[in-house]
Order: sequence, then structure tokens, then C-alpha cells
Amino acid sequence: MTAHQVTAHQNSGSWLIRGVTIPGSGEQATDILLGDGSVTAVGPAASQPGARLLDAGGLIALPGLVDLHTHLREPGREDAETVATGTAAAALGGYTTVHAMANTDPVADTAGVVEQVWRLGRAAGHCDVQPVGAVTVGLNGARLAELGTMADSAARVRVFSDDGRCVSDPLLMRRALEYVKAFGGVIAQHAQDPRLTEGAQLNEGEMSARLGLAGWPAVAEEAIIARDCLLAAHVGSALHVCHVSTAGSAEIIRWAKSKGWPVTAEVTPHHLLLTDELAAGYDPVFKVNPPLRTATDVAELRRALADGTIDCVATDHAPHPVEAKETEWAEAAFGMTGLETALRVVQRAMVDTGLLDWAGVADRMSVRPARIGRLTGHGTPLAAGAPASLTLYDPAAPAQAVTPAGASKSRNNPFAGMELPGRVVATFLRGVPTVLDGKLA
Ligand SMILES: [Zn+2]
Repeated sequence: MTAHQVTAHQNSGSWLIRGVTIPGSGEQATDILLGDGSVTAVGPAASQPGARLLDAGGLIALPGLVDLHTHLREPGREDAETVATGTAAAALGGYTTVHAMANTDPVADTAGVVEQVWRLGRAAGHCDVQPVGAVTVGLNGARLAELGTMADSAARVRVFSDDGRCVSDPLLMRRALEYVKAFGGVIAQHAQDPRLTEGAQLNEGEMSARLGLAGWPAVAEEAIIARDCLLAAHVGSALHVCHVSTAGSAEIIRWAKSKGWPVTAEVTPHHLLLTDELAAGYDPVFKVNPPLRTATDVAELRRALADGTIDCVATDHAPHPVEAKETEWAEAAFGMTGLETALRVVQRAMVDTGLLDWAGVADRMSVRPARIGRLTGHGTPLAAGAPASLTLYDPAAPAQAVTPAGASKSRNNPFAGMELPGRVVATFLRGVPTVLDGKLA
């Protein structure tokens, strides 16, 4: 039998994953037995007659990855992505849950729309879809949406965000924080002062000046984060900061956390690896909101993720149809895809650099995002009794160029052509494989 090959036995619902390493659990190869949606046993030579066998020699097992920030585009922009294609991309990237952002058409600002997205996710079956509710009606920043009815709906919304837009009105932000406190929700802020970024195209600095692109100053992000940290402390309610992109933002969050304030934060794979220098060729695949920043920012974001100031990695997977990206820089849409490459990028940026070990990756890409999303049944360290949702990854797979074609409907992947290490070999969702041998199961 070749490595990672699957041997089918009787038609049993159980799987025996043989010879795998669970980071943080002694680093010795062991066996994991899955059955009935749970991890039944962990230990050498765990066995079960009739279980299907997966030879996982050389692989590591991580609890299924959780993304706090995915744009699935459905309803409304099914030409860019659907719940089915986006969750297939997620499974191939090792994810077992994605939080679907609310900037769809119609906007996910009612119980009806969030339940629709939740049902589409269940029907697709590639991974769990946890809808994010809009903070304001129509993302218009004028009036609070029906946060309570979305929380009480079948979709059980706990994370609310106007992502794509900033809740810039401080009184509205305060009211939103006050409202979700009652049911333990969290407001996820897209921190971007709208006045300071009118017409902005690229990080304000040497590159934007050289390329003649309107600058996007770091302070436009940092000022909102500072204000919202103060509001979260004042109200005593949870703030989550989306896609932190500057060294200054990390410093503000570090300060807020040192006070014990209820603030969490995420960073994207692209902000951990790419810089504004890539805009030199005016290729809009590198146009994103917030923009790519400088090498100094990248270094500080990595340090903040490593020391826990930034809690987690979130993809901000933002698919766009070809015509929206293959145009002039100024006209192109903001956003990059990222679900299928996130873990490989994190290996390159954080593990291969010695900043984070694989137990740390499990924490930043599964345990902590599940906690921030108030999820049950995800982000549980792999042990007997835990949900059988996990990712098998080959960190030793030689670096290979990222292919632009994947399960996502869109092709705006900034890592396409770039050589990245590692390979997602298999993903299990409650004991059922969604990916085997790197392909949809
Ligand atoms: Zn955003």
C-alpha cells in the first residue's frame, strides 16, 4: 500500500487513521479511531474490526480548521461563488467550518436570509456554514439590523459584521456592542475610516507614491480599532477586529488586551506573506481591502500572531468573477481568494520561519476561531470523545507551485504560481471524509 492510500473494508462508518502525529501530544506517531461522528480512541494500535484504514504516516492531524471570515457570495453573486463551491474550496483547504459574511444580495440582515445561507451550507455538506449577521440594515450604517431575531433563528448567529464596510458611526457601534452583550455575541469590525480612505487604492507610503495610486493610510485602520477597543471596554462587550493589517493596529490590540478588555483579532494569510511591493506591476490580483502593507507590517503581524496578540488566522476569502479583477487597477474589485491555500501560507510564514509550531497553528486556526465564533462542536483538541472533525496535513510535501484552478468559482488567487510547501491530504467532518488524497471525497 502506498502512503496515504485508503483501504476500503466493509461498509463501516468508522475510520482508523494510522501512524499520524497529533501536534502538542508528545509528537509521537499514534492512531486515531473515528466512529459515530466522534473520536472513539486515540493511541497506538487502536483498532476496530471493519474500520476503513487510512495510512497517515508522516502526516499531522489538526482539529478541523475554522474560518471566521469567508465571502461565499450566495445569494446574489453566484457568478463569483456559491455556498457549494466555496465550501468545497474550504474542505480542500482543511476547513470544517466557515463563517459566511453578510454582504450578500440580499444582505444577511434578517432571520430569513441567515437561515437560507445556513440551509444551503447543510445541503452542500462540504463543511459547516455559520452565517454572520449584518450589524446594520442593508450594511448602510444607519440603523441596527434585527440582531436578536438572527441570534434566535435556526442559524443561531453570534457574530455580527458589516464587513466590506466599517460601522463608522461611534454611537451605532456602541449600541451594537450593547445589544449583543445580552446573548454573548460579538461585533466583528471592518476597521476603515471612510473619510480617510476616500478613493484609496494602496497602502499610503513609498509604493503608492511611486505608482501614483491614492494612498490608504495605516491610521484609517488604527483610529477605528483604538476607538472600538475603548468602546468595548466601556460597554463590557466583545469586539473582534477583522483582518488586522498594520504594525500599529497590532500594538493597539496588544495594549487593549493588557488591560483585560474583551478584544480579539484576526490576520489574513495574505497579510502574513505579501507586501505592497507586489503592486509594482499594477496586477489587480494584489488589490485587497485592507491593502497589502510593508515588510515591517508583515513582520509585526507575524510576531503578534505568534505571541497571541492576534488570536487567529482568517482567510477573508473574497472571490470575484474574472471581469471584476482583470481590468485596470483603479477599476478592479478589492479582494483575494484564500481558502485552499491558507494552511500552506501559514506554514511558509509562521512554521517554516520558526515563529509557531503546529500545536500553535491548531490553536490559531481552529481552537481560537471556534471560541470567538461561539461554536460548539468545532475547535476541540483531538482526543477521545472529541468531534471527529479534523484535517490531515503533510508538512513535508515538497513546495509546489499553487495552481490557479481549484474548487472556487473564482481565480483571483494572489498565490497562484507561487511555490508553497505542504499539502492537505484529508478532511473529515464529524467522521465523514469531505476530502481524501487531496481531492473532494
Ligand atoms: Zn473586510
